[in-house]
Amino acid sequence: MNIRTRLAVQFSLLASFILGAAFLVVYLRAAEFRQEQFRDRLYERGKNVANLLLQVDEVDERLLRKIELNSTVRLPEEVIALFDDHDEQVLRLGVDKDLPFGEMIAIAKKQGTMFRVDDGRESIGFVFQNGTLSNTVIASGFDRFGRGKLNDQAKVMLATFLIGLVTIFLIGRVFAKRALSPFQRLVQELHSIGASDLSKRVDPGNGTDEKAQLASSFNALLERLQGAFTAQKNFVSNASHEMRNPLTAVSGQIDVLLLRSRSEKEYETALRSVQEDLRSVNRLNDRLLLMAQAEIESNLIHFDPVRLDEVIWVAREEVLRMNNAYSVDVKIADVESDMDLTVNGNTILLRSMITNLTENACKYSPDHHATITVRGGHKEVVLRVDDNGPGIAEAEQQRIFEHFFRARNTGGAHGHGIGLALVKRIAEQHGGKVKLESELGKGSSFIVLLPNGGPLPSQHT
Ligand code: ADP
Repeated sequence: MNIRTRLAVQFSLLASFILGAAFLVVYLRAAEFRQEQFRDRLYERGKNVANLLLQVDEVDERLLRKIELNSTVRLPEEVIALFDDHDEQVLRLGVDKDLPFGEMIAIAKKQGTMFRVDDGRESIGFVFQNGTLSNTVIASGFDRFGRGKLNDQAKVMLATFLIGLVTIFLIGRVFAKRALSPFQRLVQELHSIGASDLSKRVDPGNGTDEKAQLASSFNALLERLQGAFTAQKNFVSNASHEMRNPLTAVSGQIDVLLLRSRSEKEYETALRSVQEDLRSVNRLNDRLLLMAQAEIESNLIHFDPVRLDEVIWVAREEVLRMNNAYSVDVKIADVESDMDLTVNGNTILLRSMITNLTENACKYSPDHHATITVRGGHKEVVLRVDDNGPGIAEAEQQRIFEHFFRARNTGGAHGHGIGLALVKRIAEQHGGKVKLESELGKGSSFIVLLPNGGPLPSQHT
């Protein structure tokens, strides 16, 4: 069942409940009123007959029967009976119908009045005081007219109820259609947006109702998707560009080398250059792989309690192996227990983060020296990598964390502009952040803040 029909059905059910309850109350009240009226009429008939016979001297039973024969106020299938003090029948008028007079008289005498209904026949009994004598009057009959009227009324109410129900259902459907039509338009608009055309946006309408809120949410989602798609496209094209440069250089060198025969020395020089280019491609490839790993959801990465000082020593070794000219000092401060330097993390990613920062410090500083300081803490572990390098211009400080961005200060040092983007991503994956303090001509300090201890045990896979 679609929403439109469901709304119309719910609307109709509610309305039918209210309408049905109202009609039932009206019907019950009308039935009660009819019975009260008929009871009064029975009482009047019984009282009149008893009055005439017992209190008007001129009227005897014969005359009374004559009067009653022509009476127009007689009730359908009426029976009127009068009993004396000793419950002996004094008079009986009307149809020949067997009624339980004994029972009726007993109740009437006991309670003063009696009323009962047997198969639609309504009977009333009451004590009629005639001087000192107590007579009992029983009047009984069928309220054909009243009951017929009540039945007609019930039929009219039932028909009104059914017609009303159908009308409410149809009107409900129209209202539901009207209420849902903006959403249907929204669905159509969304259908027209393909994966290749994420620049399209849906119409937010008047900007205040639910449809507008939904449309704005979709637009925000499309915005993010478009951003992610563009970033991915740029990333792939930048990555292939970075790969192509050294590979083209290698291919060019080999072409030149093969033009004629060369001396051993020339071959060696060329091969060393090729080796350097291939190492660069290899490094880029490693970083791209790490980047891909760091980009995946953090709950898919394996996290363990990791001693940061141990990772720092391994990273230091790795950097020192890259270039004989590099030197790295390590300082460990504010450590009271092993836990002070423990973070919940992925060793490979953390090592790559520290290696990248340390390599940059050595690579860009004229003295090729880096100082790594790690400071323990109950809440967070602070890792600093300082150098005495050229520093980074303020305008470029935010951009250096973008993929493939290289500042103007590189001074011919090789690189691909991917290391710091990776560092930032890894820090974020670990619930931390990276800050940069740098001044041109004085050096740079990259500060990584990581939550201490085991805040992410649920992320273990
Ligand atoms: P790469 O070093 O391969 O170029 P990175 O992403 O590691 O790529 O760094 C981006 C840019 O930030 C570098 O090109 C460089 O201009 C600047 N940079 C990074 N680290 C330092 C540093 N310690 N001192 C000065 N500049 C730096």
